[in-house]
Amino acid sequence: MSDDPRYRSSRWQKLRAAVLRRDPLCAYCRARGRAEAATTVDHIVPTARGGRFWDRDNLAPACASCNYSKADTPLDEWLAGGCGTDGFGSFWDEKNQTSLSAKDRMRPSLHTNLDS
Ligand SMILES: [Zn+2]
Repeated sequence: MSDDPRYRSSRWQKLRAAVLRRDPLCAYCRARGRAEAATTVDHIVPTARGGRFWDRDNLAPACASCNYSKADTPLDEWLAGGCGTDGFGSFWDEKNQTSLSAKDRMRPSLHTNLDS
């Protein structure tokens, strides 16, 4: 997330709540076949790259990991690269591999359901 003061406005809080209510799972994890609760709302086209802040079509529910990992990367670039590839991926791996794999081990049934 950024320091944009709009994130602290009640208008954003309402919009964010509406997006999460409509779709409580992380859209990016779902694209990779995983179910992860969304705790944040991400701008699909980053506002830093001209994405519209208040446009619901530009908002996607995201877990904190995806939101943090994607940051200001364009969606197609980020999805193509993902975690564990060159570039930001190496940073991501070093910082998060242990906790991510530990979390994955805790929810094998969830993965099984999704894979079918
Ligand atoms: Zn996610």
